[in-house]
Amino acid sequence: MTETTLFKKKLEGKVAIVTGGASGIGEATAHLFAKHGALMVVVADIQEELGHQVAKSIGLNHSTYVHCDVTDEEQVIAMVESTVKNYGQLDIMFSNAGIFSRSDQTVLNLDLFALDHLFAINVRGMAACVKHAARAMVEGHVRGSIVCTASVAANQGSTANTDYFMSKHAVLGLVRSASRQLGEHGIRVNCVSPSIVATPLACSVLGMDTEQVEKAYEPHASLKGVVLKVGHVADAVLFLASDDSGFVNGHNLVVDGGWVD
Ligand code: NAD
Repeated sequence: MTETTLFKKKLEGKVAIVTGGASGIGEATAHLFAKHGALMVVVADIQEELGHQVAKSIGLNHSTYVHCDVTDEEQVIAMVESTVKNYGQLDIMFSNAGIFSRSDQTVLNLDLFALDHLFAINVRGMAACVKHAARAMVEGHVRGSIVCTASVAANQGSTANTDYFMSKHAVLGLVRSASRQLGEHGIRVNCVSPSIVATPLACSVLGMDTEQVEKAYEPHASLKGVVLKVGHVADAVLFLASDDSGFVNGHNLVVDGGWVD
């Protein structure tokens, strides 16, 4: 049997939105969704050039770029509405757009303006995407899947980056609450929680290149002989987005190689 006949496509005919789809985890997931037969993958981001490039590299028959700043609810509404109008329905929302905070954000030094900015994206933006995806799914009678990107930061405290850790705890609260509320509509809501993975975000925040990031964080995983890549996170998102996780709801799928207990 050839590899092609063995490969089972998991998202055939599905319409998906990936926020933060122009880079890192979102980009890898957008590609994987398309590989698994998604009818349309809407790459939503604020990085125009990169976003268009990602959609083009997937193939414009199955992907498109939409400008959407998740901090602006009107833009989130427009993104969801145009998706439903153009492609019939919304089956999958991967709400992933996010930023990291400054390492000097300790409680004693907390810059609340910086906290507001980070919360506007990581918490408010995430909530807006879940809200409007859920509304479209309920309205369209779609038994959809919503996946958010949390982090290992959602499950522990930190000596720095207080606002980031707070924001990811909030994502978990959003996912757990939304999953309870939307279950009756057949909509599942889950999240993935990666540890440090060498994306443009992680590299720029840490001031390291990919190799340096991987070397610095590899010792934290109890699993040896493998380094966390965006593809591992995308695989976890695919699981939660597809029918493979048909009875999984309100779950936080940690992808950290056994770092955090
Ligand atoms: P990335 O910077 O490579 O990708 C994030 C994307 O989000 C970018 O394309 C960016 O333009 C977009 N974005 C930022 N603000 C936005 C806004 N207001 N509206 C729309 N899009 C916006 O980073 P990444 O590492 O792939 O991060 C993706 C998610 O993963 C984030 O939520 C991040 O917190 C989370 N995460 C990352 C790591 C890591 O180590 N890289 C670990 C755990 C969780």
